[in-house]
Amino acid sequence: MIDKMSLDYSKKMEEFGIKNKILEHASLVEASDVVAELGYTLNDSVATLIMKADKNFIAVLRRDVTKISFKKIKKLLGISDLQIATPEEFKQVTGLEIGTARFYVPGIKTYIDNKVFEAKMILGGTGSLTTTFQCQSVDLKKLPNIQVVDVTSEIEEIKINYKGVKRVFSGIRATGRLHLGNYLGAVKGFLELEKTGKYETVYCVVDVHSITTPFDKDTLSQKKREIVIDYLAAGLNPKKSIIIYQSDVPEHIELAFYFSSVVTIARMQHLPTYKEKVKQHPNDNTMALLNYPVLMAADILVYKAGLVPVGIDQEPHLEVAREIARKMNQLYGTDFPEPVRFATKGEYVPSLTGEGKMGKSVEGSYINLTDSLEEIRKKIRSVPTATTAGGELTGGLKSLFAFAQLFMEKSEVDSYKNEFEAGTLQFVKLKDAISEVIFAELKPFQERRAKIAADTKYVDEVIRDGAARARTIASETVKEVKEKMGLL
Ligand code: ADP
Repeated sequence: MIDKMSLDYSKKMEEFGIKNKILEHASLVEASDVVAELGYTLNDSVATLIMKADKNFIAVLRRDVTKISFKKIKKLLGISDLQIATPEEFKQVTGLEIGTARFYVPGIKTYIDNKVFEAKMILGGTGSLTTTFQCQSVDLKKLPNIQVVDVTSEIEEIKINYKGVKRVFSGIRATGRLHLGNYLGAVKGFLELEKTGKYETVYCVVDVHSITTPFDKDTLSQKKREIVIDYLAAGLNPKKSIIIYQSDVPEHIELAFYFSSVVTIARMQHLPTYKEKVKQHPNDNTMALLNYPVLMAADILVYKAGLVPVGIDQEPHLEVAREIARKMNQLYGTDFPEPVRFATKGEYVPSLTGEGKMGKSVEGSYINLTDSLEEIRKKIRSVPTATTAGGELTGGLKSLFAFAQLFMEKSEVDSYKNEFEAGTLQFVKLKDAISEVIFAELKPFQERRAKIAADTKYVDEVIRDGAARARTIASETVKEVKEKMGLL
């Protein structure tokens, strides 16, 4: 049910002549999660940023795919100091929870970036974590106290920035076997970027991250190794990419400590990923967990990597890495790039349960890369497919069609969709077809994997060689940071 707060806001917007719709979803903080759940992309969503311009608060509306230019805003307003409002200030100005900012902030001058109007229908906050506001962008011009301005850079600029990127970094925790989400959202991106031959690619098993939540010390070392084997079996070439264990390059941890001096505890505590993990493990709310995003920033920036192939769920952490890079550059004159995410077609692989994303920590949500056809068939057959009367694609059925789109030809997906719309689709037929195409993609991987796992010497060598190459780069960065921070 849509809550009263959202309905009241919707009514208020109607009064301004802004026709709108309130969309319901699970309780979510991050725009990336909301759009994924609603079947949209960040192209469609607009964020309201509350900022402190000298002494006054302002609101800036920008499309989520654009980056705000502090320089342009400062110039426009003729001010010298511009900051994003702190969580406390945000609450004081809007009276709302972080992540729910609305387009209309009473009593505050609102600047709408021109590019907001490049998307026709847009999504934004309602004040509630379980609903999202949708309206035509052009209608925002009816809001009181607004000014249309040009204060962001384009998405294209971010893409062009790829050109300046020399290194790529990404990592996966050693918390279990790789699943389809890891493969499609991350590893496929690793391969794509390695193949270009344009970048120095560093791919890591982030074993130190594995200890930020409860773990088993007796199996950790084996799990780490399995992921390296998965990387190699997926097709990574250790002659081209540097493949490492995070703990073999202690500079990651050293740099993370230096970085932690420019990050506030409040910023970390407000991250949705942190809150979620604390909910999952209420008795293990450790410093290591709180520090996770700082260590991730160090993982990336110790190589000065500008491009990070990870799933969309990692976007909030990348934002932290960018903030740290900016802060370090401002304070100490370092030259860290502001890393951007490299997105793959499978940046969001849904769970088999029909709710949320596929993840290692949710039992029954995933397909492992090592699953046999029988196992895959069993898992896919148990995806819930009860449909609502209107025949809408929801829950498990939505996940099934997402898999179909990821693995099948468009014409085949369309034909299943037509059958579904005509009410003649046999779910088991669709499910078995999906199982077959998934297994066909995994089979060569599984065959390669068996061979690589048997070659102990080769795997050891890859790990040893990776560590040596990585340390050469990482130690240089740490030395530079120590010098610039006055530690050397
Ligand atoms: P998990 O969430 O299963 O524990 P990790 O947190 O170790 O996985 O994430 C490893 C990589 O896999 C990250 O780049 C993450 O964005 C990606 N990833 C994880 N789950 C998914 C998913 N369901 N869809 C797309 N990418 C995913």
